[in-house]
Amino acid sequence: MVVAVEYIAKEKSADVASGAESARHGVTGILAVQGAFAEHAAMLDGLGAPWKLLRAAEDFDDSIDRVILPGGESTTQGKLLRATGLFEPIAAHIAAGKPVFGTCAGMILLARRLENDPNVYFGALDAVVRRNAYGRQLGSFAATADFGSAAGDSAVVVAPGEHVPGFAAPSSKAVSGAAADSVRNPDGHTAVGVPSADVVLKDFPLVFIRGPFVAEVGSAVTVATSVDGNVVGLRQGNILATAFHPELTDDTRIHELFLSL
Ligand code: GLN
Repeated sequence: MVVAVEYIAKEKSADVASGAESARHGVTGILAVQGAFAEHAAMLDGLGAPWKLLRAAEDFDDSIDRVILPGGESTTQGKLLRATGLFEPIAAHIAAGKPVFGTCAGMILLARRLENDPNVYFGALDAVVRRNAYGRQLGSFAATADFGSAAGDSAVVVAPGEHVPGFAAPSSKAVSGAAADSVRNPDGHTAVGVPSADVVLKDFPLVFIRGPFVAEVGSAVTVATSVDGNVVGLRQGNILATAFHPELTDDTRIHELFLSL
């Protein structure tokens, strides 16, 4: 895991990174006990957002204001969450309604119940999730679908290559047209705290690796992404969960949406 080692080495500088994002937000804590945490760190680097790897309970300090739960092996991650003492601070973070983004195994850790596994971890996402839902042979594939659904005229549609309103990337090419007008302050600045339940990320590239899907969606969930009739992406307030891996693509929009929460 050469990539992971490289990111561990950079951990300290990320701690003290500054800029537009860190001024507005604190640091994103990335669970790093197992799995694809380095890819999320690379994504946040590209967006100029500070992050810190969470490997032990003491890594979860006051600077952390959002958490990423990466893909990997959920059973292993669940055991290591307990062994490291990271389970409690992350559970408290989620219970306080602060932003959390789970990809693949991370979605499994967030689910209220698993259809084919007796374990429950954080239990915060109002959904029943089926592990390895596509079978082991057919488990890895790519698709394209919208993330989020346009509930009405107020929906802000963000096309591929555009940036999520409310996210101030250093070199942002902001969304334009009527969509942008609906999220601007009277003084013309892009609003922070966009009603992002109404954000639709058009034609998002979906990469699946032995992923889960959602067998049952509860009423607390507001936004879903579906592929072939299977729900694979969820929004529930400040919780984002995807069965697919946006960190393995060069599309930054879901990470921008997460950072805008
Ligand atoms: N199948 C894995 C699990 O159940 C998740 C796969 C992934 O995160 N890519 O934990």
